[in-house]
Parts: sequence; structure tokens; C-alpha cells
Amino acid sequence: MNKPSTTVLIAEDEESFVDAITLGLRKEGFNVEIARDGREALDQFELVSPDVILLDVMLPKISGIDVCKTIRNTSQVPIIMVTARTSELDTVVGLEVGADDYVAKPFRMRELTARIRAVLRRAPSSPQNEDEEELLEIGEITLDTARHELRVKGAPVALPLKEFELLELLMSNPNRVMTRDMIIDRVWGPYHTSDTKTLDVHIKRLRTKIEPDPANPTYISTVRGLGYRFEVIPK
Ligand code: CA
Repeated sequence: MNKPSTTVLIAEDEESFVDAITLGLRKEGFNVEIARDGREALDQFELVSPDVILLDVMLPKISGIDVCKTIRNTSQVPIIMVTARTSELDTVVGLEVGADDYVAKPFRMRELTARIRAVLRRAPSSPQNEDEEELLEIGEITLDTARHELRVKGAPVALPLKEFELLELLMSNPNRVMTRDMIIDRVWGPYHTSDTKTLDVHIKRLRTKIEPDPANPTYISTVRGLGYRFEVIPK
């Protein structure tokens, strides 16, 4: 499934953790490079031009947040932040400085490889034709952005403009946590006074239209304290 040349740069200082991930990723066919602190991460980034970076927030010398900021000055390489389970703040800051996704420790190898593949699919370097971009298909949901049509299990569903734009944003970023601020900014505009209640109401309405069971959503999941994520990985 991977090109043999897909290189993952792991920036992490916990030895046992590095060993386990390296082994797991090599088994999946990835080429793995390792950096033990923030400075090494920046050096390795220049040296090996990785296809994706797995970046621990808590790194010696230069923090993962600062590493991310620095890399984003020159590159859109996919970055997945690795955070402690307890630290929602690190996660928010990480996403705001330009990380594409995050995983919280401890995580399963399967979750990690799924997230890596998801960010690689979204990477700007991956070839994409325009027809594909106009038709978003996830599970039994099809969104035709050119015709402004939503179909659920093949049946057309009417959708007001803001709900359509919201769904388009979420489906264009599958498996990616979108913070409330990011969503409001993109759908309602940067000058909109951030009213998260408006967003939550729109999400609720969307769920009644696309979810098989709106009370137990499988497509749009709430990421507590952060925002929402459109799920592609089957639960
Ligand atoms: Ca660490």
C-alpha cells in the first residue's frame, strides 16, 4: 500500500516508545528516521525530507510546538502531534500552529498507521484530479460540491447553505480534528463573533440528516473540549 520510499520522521525522546513505533511502522513498510530532541528534529527534517512527521509535544531542547511552527514557515509536510492523554491544551496549541492531526498517548499501532495514511492522502503533493474534489464520498454519504447536492444512501437530502458548507469542510478533512474556532472561521468568516452555540446547533441538525442514529453519531464525532471530526475509520 505504501511506496517503499514513504519516510516517517519520528521526533521522540522516550526510548521504549521510539523502539515500539519504529518496529511497528517498519513492519507496515514505512522507512523510519528518528530524532531524539527538537533540534535534531529540525536537522533531520532538512536532511531526509520526510513525507510525514510524528512529533512529540514534550521534546528536549526545542518543544514540539516550536518545531512545528518552524517547519510550517517553509513546508506543508503532514505533521501528527503526539500528546499526553491529559493535555488538551497541547493538542489545541498544536493544531493552531499547523499540525494536521494528533494522537494521544497511549495509542494503538493501528490507530497511528490509519492517521498517517489519512494525512498522506490529504498531502498537497499527492496527485488529485478535480472531479474527485467535487464529489466527496464517505460511507453512505455523497456530497456533490459542484451541484450543491447531498445524498444519503443514494437519496437526495435538502440542506441549507451553512449546513452544506459545514459538511463540506468536515468531509474535506476526513479523520482530522477541526477545532470550533477553525470551523467558525472557515464557515462563518473571521469577523464572526465566535458563537460556539450556533455551530453546535448546526452540527445537531446535520446529524439528524446524515446519521443513521443521530443520538449516537458515527460520522461526525464530538472531540471533547476541541471540536468535531468526520470519521472514516470504522469503529
Ligand atoms: Ca517526550
